[in-house]
Amino acid sequence: MPPILQLKDITKTYPSGTRALDGISLDIQRGEFVVLIGLSGSGKSTLLRCINRLIDPTSGTVVFDGIDVTRARGAELRRIRRRIGMIFQQFNLVRRASVFGNVLAGRLGSRPIWRTVFFRPTPDDLEAVFENLGRVGIVDKAFVRADQLSGGQQQRVGIARALMQGPELMLADEPVASLDPATSHSVMKYLEEINKKDGITVICSLHFLSLARRYGTRVIALKGGKVAYDGLPANIDERRFKEIYGEDAVEVEIGLGPQEPQGLTANQAALDALAQDAGHMDAR
Ligand code: ADP
Repeated sequence: MPPILQLKDITKTYPSGTRALDGISLDIQRGEFVVLIGLSGSGKSTLLRCINRLIDPTSGTVVFDGIDVTRARGAELRRIRRRIGMIFQQFNLVRRASVFGNVLAGRLGSRPIWRTVFFRPTPDDLEAVFENLGRVGIVDKAFVRADQLSGGQQQRVGIARALMQGPELMLADEPVASLDPATSHSVMKYLEEINKKDGITVICSLHFLSLARRYGTRVIALKGGKVAYDGLPANIDERRFKEIYGEDAVEVEIGLGPQEPQGLTANQAALDALAQDAGHMDAR
């Protein structure tokens, strides 16, 4: 089978002069659960956004299911984007709208949210909203306002909204970075389920190698906009870990229970400090 996604020599230089991606070439096969790791500023978010053209790469080609995404315009680009779902660290929900409204908006693909005002849902749409809320275990929250939910529940709404497009590829940009360890696992398990049961290919950036090891079928590490590792999670040994995160980095487990709430913050702070030291965190 041809790869679902091919990245050919992608570079991205921001107008500030920062070279965020520096010659990334990758083939992603259908059904993979790819975890992107790397220090803050290594280019994970830029890479994910180049795939669905939220950001235009400076050079290189993105091919999705045989279609050149980098050249697509207008209706063709919208058609491609409908086949690629995305979830975000900050959930990107309409906070004052109901869970139901937020999920229904997923049917609109890349059209702006205000178009929902004129959008008359069909019985199929309504059924799909409840089916997808069921997938992430929050049917009972359908008519609650999005901002009344916990972070983990809001991210599950984000997943349900993305599922409304019937995506073949799901991009997840640090989906659990704002959540505590126990909630992180619950959100990751839903991503794992849509990957395994629905066969949706997942590319997910994560701060923690322990989560990458637990959920990824393949880990790709970025460092300074280049691929520093591409392979099985199990093959990342101490030496490779230090190549990716730097000599001073120490791997920390992200626990399952609320008894370890410090883990996330401490680990994140440590990695961010390393990134600062390494000079990767340019002013945005
Ligand atoms: P990551 O997701 O791994 O933290 P990013 O893709 O956000 O990395 O950032 C990669 C590099 O590009 C960093 O040096 C960052 O400061 C820079 N960068 C990201 N977004 C912008 C932007 N909009 N303008 C200028 N520089 C940016």
